[in-house]
Order: sequence, then structure tokens, then C-alpha cells
Amino acid sequence: MICSRCVLPSTTPGISFDDKGVCNYCHKSKSVKFAGEEALLEVINRFRGQGRYDCIVALSGGRDSSYVVLKAVRDYKLKVLAFNYRNPFTHPVASENIRRIQKRLGVDLVQLEFPGDIHRRTMRHNLIAWMRKPSLAMVPMMCVACKMLWKPILDIASRHNIKVAFSGSNPYEQTTFKRELLGIDAEASVARYYTGYIFGLVRESLSNVRYLAPEVLPTTVKGYMFSGPQAPMVRMMGKDLIKVSLFKYLPWNEKKVLTRIREEVGWESPPDNPCTWRFDCTVEEVKHYIYHKLMGVTEKDDFYSRLIRAGVMSRKEALKRIERENAVNVEAVEAVLAEVGISFRQLDQTLERYLESHSEK
Ligand SMILES: [Zn+2]
Repeated sequence: MICSRCVLPSTTPGISFDDKGVCNYCHKSKSVKFAGEEALLEVINRFRGQGRYDCIVALSGGRDSSYVVLKAVRDYKLKVLAFNYRNPFTHPVASENIRRIQKRLGVDLVQLEFPGDIHRRTMRHNLIAWMRKPSLAMVPMMCVACKMLWKPILDIASRHNIKVAFSGSNPYEQTTFKRELLGIDAEASVARYYTGYIFGLVRESLSNVRYLAPEVLPTTVKGYMFSGPQAPMVRMMGKDLIKVSLFKYLPWNEKKVLTRIREEVGWESPPDNPCTWRFDCTVEEVKHYIYHKLMGVTEKDDFYSRLIRAGVMSRKEALKRIERENAVNVEAVEAVLAEVGISFRQLDQTLERYLESHSEK
């Protein structure tokens, strides 16, 4: 059974349906409001022309961050410093997009890698920890290194005296079920989200202390403190840096985003991937596989459900997309796992055991 309004299936954590088959997430959802371009220009013009760069933009090579750079350079004539974190799992097509943007838009780029192979090591450690005691709430922990990204953004902005940081996350991609799994309400405020997040992580880590091992704990703590523009340390250290999420001002429009980045910078997505969203990091494939197999609900189901509720996508289109995009790309999953010395079979057996033990209950 799936919701009669969105596309969330009955296996979604915390879901319930009314007598018309409409889910509680649909009932709870609040409409997204945009501050408008005038408000955006007000911020931009306040800080324009004060230094070598007007703003820093975190660029992954994915569609939305590429669009933000394009928009900043072409529409707002800003001097952009692009920042890219090159992790060992960055998709080569994303790297190619970054090169194209650099060349076509003439932006300066700072590319960073964390030292000591920290990304691969923490991913391997946390994935093994997860496989010893699988918990759906802890699937994102394999990506803990990426959560530290706001630290270098703050450092670079401060070094270049940059006052504005743009980001391209869109308001529809906060996965509801990930919050639900950690015991956080889908529509919780920022403050309640961070409190719920830390309580959820601590609770989960106490039931699987491998997550607290000395080789990953500093990264986890730093990851929590810097996990987003509203995270505790980012708010403290980055008081002077205005964080502008472009799609809090302007409505996110997939077609407009894709058309412009394709035409104006030659942006591409991988030919073997039917989805243009979040291919930039290949670890997504592993998380997708786990959610798909264990819950029968994926981040794509959640994303498209939000788009339906916002009136941005029809349910028919969403159903068509998830049918095509929810298929697991086994080869891609295998390739990521091989990077951390785990075989597909090992992970698959873990998932099978999880399903067996949960079907007995
Ligand atoms: Zn629904």
C-alpha cells in the first residue's frame, strides 16, 4: 500500500493512514515559503564589492550547487570562490562538471581533501560497525566525514574576508524518514532538530559502542558540530558569515535548473543513472540499496513525495520516476564497497539476516 496523495509506502517509519489512504506525513507537511528575489538582492548588494571575492559557494558538481554558481556569476555578477570537497567516492562526472564550471564561468576554485585518508577510513569503520549491528537510523553514519565540511568553508571564508556563503540545498530534500528513525519530528524546528539529532546519535551509539571508537569519534563530534549552516559550531564560529541558501529565496524548479546548467556550462549527469539528483557521491548507491532492501522506501520516494505535496510534481510523474530510479545499481554498490574492502556478498548477507530476524518479530 502507498499513500493516495504522495508516494510513501506503508513500510515508511512512523507512517499511518487516514480512512482515505492519505498518510500522516502529508497531513503534517507545511508549505514551503520563499523570501523572494528582492530579499536576496538586498543581501547580495549589502556585501558586494568588498574584497577579492563576494561569496563562497560549496560546489559538489551536482545539479543544484552547479546552478547556484551559475546564478551567482551570470545573474548576479558576483565574484565567486567555489569550494569543493573531493572525497574518494566523488563521481567522475561530478568532477568533470566542476572543471566545466571553472572553465566556462571563470571562477576560482579551492579543492580540499581531508588528510590521512580520513574519509575512507571512517566510512569503512562505520560501515563495519553498522554491519555488526544494523540499525536503519545509523545508515548515514558511513558518511560522517562529509558532515565536517562547514569547518573548511568557515576557515576559507575567514582567510579571504568573505562575508557570504551560498549553498544549494533545496527545501524538499530533508529526508523525513531519516529524522523519524532518530526520533525527530518531520517538521521540527532547527533547534529541536539538533537536540533530537544528538540524543538520537548518543542513544544509537550506546547500543553499538563501535561508533565511539577513538579512530572515528573525533570525526563524529566534529561532524555533528559542523553538519550544516545551522549546526552549533557553525553558528558560533561563523557569526560574521551570512549563510544564504538560494532556494530559501527562490522557488526550486528542476526543469529550470537542469536546462540552464546543461545549456550554459555543459553540465552532465552519468549516462547509466536515470536520476539527475545526488549522483555526485557514489556512496548514495550503497545507502539507497540498504534503505530499499530493508525498508522498501528510499530517499527518492521521500523527495518526490515532498515535491507532490508542494504541488511541484504530479503524482503520476513521481510514480513513473520512482519506478525507474529506485532500481538498485548492483555494480555501482559493489564498486563503492570494494573501495573500503567489503564485498557485496558480505553486505547482502547482513541485510538478509536483518530481514530474517525482523520478520520473526
Ligand atoms: Zn502521503
